[in-house]
Amino acid sequence: MKKLQETLKQLDGKSYRALKSIQGTYEGDTFTLFMDYVQGDPFAAPSRLRVFIPWKNLDTEPSQFKSNVRSIAFKHFFAKECQKHIFKTKNPVKGTGKSGMVFIDSPGQEVLDRTAVKTDHKGMEFRLSVGLPAQGRRISGHQANTLLTQVLPEIVKKTVTQYDRTQLKEALLLADDQQKIRNYIKENDLVAFVANGAILPRESGVSNKPLKDTNVVPFQTPVRYEISITLPSGKIVKGMGVKKGIHLIIGGGYHGKSTLLQAIERGVYNHQKGDGRELVITDDSAMKIRSEDGRSVSHVNISPFINDLPFGKKTTDFSSQDASGSTSQAANIIEALEMQSNLMLIDEDTSATNFMIRDGRMQKLVKKNKEPITPFIDRVRDLYDKKGVSTILVLGGSGDYFDVADHIIMMDEYVPLDKTEEAKALASEMKTTRSIEANLAIDLDQSRSVHRKDIYRLFDRKEKVDAKGLHNIRIGKSNLSLANVEQLVDTSQTQAIALMIKHIAKDKHGPQEMKEAIDKLYAQIDRDGLDLLSPFRGQHPGDFALPRKFEVAAALNRIRY
Ligand code: ADP
Ligand code: MG
Repeated sequence: MKKLQETLKQLDGKSYRALKSIQGTYEGDTFTLFMDYVQGDPFAAPSRLRVFIPWKNLDTEPSQFKSNVRSIAFKHFFAKECQKHIFKTKNPVKGTGKSGMVFIDSPGQEVLDRTAVKTDHKGMEFRLSVGLPAQGRRISGHQANTLLTQVLPEIVKKTVTQYDRTQLKEALLLADDQQKIRNYIKENDLVAFVANGAILPRESGVSNKPLKDTNVVPFQTPVRYEISITLPSGKIVKGMGVKKGIHLIIGGGYHGKSTLLQAIERGVYNHQKGDGRELVITDDSAMKIRSEDGRSVSHVNISPFINDLPFGKKTTDFSSQDASGSTSQAANIIEALEMQSNLMLIDEDTSATNFMIRDGRMQKLVKKNKEPITPFIDRVRDLYDKKGVSTILVLGGSGDYFDVADHIIMMDEYVPLDKTEEAKALASEMKTTRSIEANLAIDLDQSRSVHRKDIYRLFDRKEKVDAKGLHNIRIGKSNLSLANVEQLVDTSQTQAIALMIKHIAKDKHGPQEMKEAIDKLYAQIDRDGLDLLSPFRGQHPGDFALPRKFEVAAALNRIRY
């Protein structure tokens, strides 16, 4: 560190470019500082560095996280701690542009594998970005010295010494408990679990934090679905075991139907303690299926749902730059099946009505040969009976679904009630006037190739693929919108997807089939870690977090060629 101090003092007042010379490795008293990348000017993307601390200098150790989920929870915990100390630590460094800023890619409510903190057999490493200070375009050497040799070490030291030991222990135990529930639902023919006492509603439409309101109604399972699971932490948790099959969630508007479904949607991820949904766990292959008019679709066999489009447009190999509500919803289902999802989650609020249902009167007036759509109501049983794919459906407006559902739950002022018997009795008393439109058994399977050459054509000379926030990825000049991919939750996942698209496109001799290509990449990540995706492997890799395979497929499926 002495060397760095001296160099920085010498650089004071010199042209900013000269700062590049500080790239390198510096030994501190208890840590090592790697200056991996120095920004070209004070306004440019900040400089990237890593702070590595060997286990022997830490009061925590790797034996605590034998399992992958524990290790992810551990890193999540310390990334949050570091973020906290970045805010709390006094930082006098100022100047032009990004001068003085200190950044770590801090997690949200979901506990995801991310590059911000890395652990291995040697120690723990923090991956940070800093704005090296300048006055105008001249180096502020003394300020840079303060930033790198005082502020930064203080942040990291506080992070690893001042954390709450009990909280860390609880975070790791929670990871065990969550994994136990995941295993339990797999082994017991369930698709989801919602614990009693869970807080499902969120603070607002734009905040993922729990609603803090004295009127919040904690979740309470209907007795019929109550199960209890003994957790590794010693707790016994009770709650709703959502069985395989077809579930209908009904109830009046504003009674909490969508909120329940959204919690289940997000249950594919583990949530941190205090989220309210930490014991809401869903089959991790669950896919939210919605209509998405305007999306691009390429080469999807949507014929199980849609046939005989006007002007003889083929639906066994359907492509569109501007799909309709119903064709996009059909494509979303077929694509989810291609990735082997076991559970479809559908909300009336985001569905195309004509895709969901056609009642008796409409069937009489508009004859089948004039209606390309086989509504979901006539396919949902096939999905389960033939393919074992379950569905949870929020639908307040059509009792015709009573005939095809296995379980009917009514939300009543945020309390779920089991109405299966009642609804079934009603269904046999008041027969539906609609007739079943199931056309011939159509195979729901498809497997398509990754269009590597087409992706390549989109690349510009630098082969740039860049994430822009949570919802957009630029590939060359083409924009890929993920705005309706609802289980994508973190901008750092979008970053990872951008890198993955590039990896998959460049793997010229890789598998032809999309699913296999994605599986191959994930197998490599499993083996070598998330850093593998980065072009700067071995250094600060950039900030990204692991998405599910399903969201990677969703991105590939929406590329506009
Ligand atoms: P629905 O889909 O049945 O129309 P929503 O799920 O959209 O209803 O919920 C309506 C409102 O009620 C939302 O503002 C939501 O935050 C709130 N809400 C949902 N569940 C609860 C609950 N358990 N306690 C308190 N408020 C809730
Ligand atoms: Mg709703």
